[in-house]
Amino acid sequence: MNLPDFKQEATSLYDDLVRVRRDLHRHPELGFQETRTAALVAETLTGLGLEVQTGVGQTGVVALLEGARPGPTLLLRFDMDALPIREENTHDYISTNPGVMHACGHDGHVAMGLGLAQIFTRHQDRMAGALKFLFPPAEDGLGGALAVMAGGALESPRPDVALAMHLWSPVHLGQLRVVEGPAMASSSVFTITIEGHGGHGAAPHLAKDPILAAAQIVVALQSIVSRNTNPQDSVVVSIGEFSAGTTFNVIPERAVLKGTVRSYDKASHRMVYRRILEMATNMATAFGCKASMETVAIVAAVNNAPEPTAVVRAAAERVLGAENIVEHRTMAAEDMGFILEEIPGCYFFVGCSNGDPATQYPHHHPRFDFDERAMVNGVAVMAEAAARYVMN
Ligand SMILES: [Zn+2]
Ligand SMILES: [Zn+2]
Repeated sequence: MNLPDFKQEATSLYDDLVRVRRDLHRHPELGFQETRTAALVAETLTGLGLEVQTGVGQTGVVALLEGARPGPTLLLRFDMDALPIREENTHDYISTNPGVMHACGHDGHVAMGLGLAQIFTRHQDRMAGALKFLFPPAEDGLGGALAVMAGGALESPRPDVALAMHLWSPVHLGQLRVVEGPAMASSSVFTITIEGHGGHGAAPHLAKDPILAAAQIVVALQSIVSRNTNPQDSVVVSIGEFSAGTTFNVIPERAVLKGTVRSYDKASHRMVYRRILEMATNMATAFGCKASMETVAIVAAVNNAPEPTAVVRAAAERVLGAENIVEHRTMAAEDMGFILEEIPGCYFFVGCSNGDPATQYPHHHPRFDFDERAMVNGVAVMAEAAARYVMN
């Protein structure tokens, strides 16, 4: 197979990638409100001659690029949403939408998606198969993937393989991380409400104190990972919110705990919830209170299938060099997990920090930024991987 030099093609798009990314960075939009972004995506892809569908899962865009001959359909996915964060950067392309910021790098993802569409329209006559470009809304915690799936994004045609990537600031520019099997965790949220019996702080014997019960529950839940989880599995249980009471001398009626569970497999997730419920209800009872729990599944684990992962790894080795490809897993979560439950595929991480502290802030930080040359690497690797399916 004599594939084009995608590193060189992506490099020639550098100015376009930067222009689009900075335009989006100036105009960030929250999940399910990406109307300007979606319009820009739709207009660009229509201009390139793709068959474009808008309003998929509210603000998502799907576009099909068909090759000259039949072959597999490949889904390439690029998320579009920004976050409710007030940007603290001082560069000349900071957010003009107060309190909203592209602090996860999705502005770069959209720019890369449009760059890939540009590259493949040049090679359409050599393509056997189709590329389905998916720009879903609301990746960051709002379930945009489920919305576009409900909107038919995975049907007619149904993709055979799905690829997605994330610019990743913990990884240096020029490196790429990919791993077969679980790459990111499933995530869910739980809320435990402990009902007690309020009263005067000076007469605790006449009350049932939900704060004391809740405090014991917080401590007990931390034993699930150390005592109930197989040490070979990775599981996280974190409480991030504890609310109760209004003043110093009143024992309140109730306390509320909110937290998150992360795991790579469904069985661990179920086990953790069984233990949380047992501990919360029994501990509350021991203190004369009552506990109830609600859970909401946020995303499924990102599970990379063997064959697409091997293709991405080979593509990345050709573009970036084998010495720059490292295996990597994280307990962070991604709604691409829902798509990968239906379509085999691969999700990988593109290094985007360069030693300059400005590029080393974590994702979701008000000063997050990345080395824009990372977009060239992401485009080149995904183009090379996609070409291995649809070009010959
Ligand atoms: Zn994010
Ligand atoms: Zn993200």
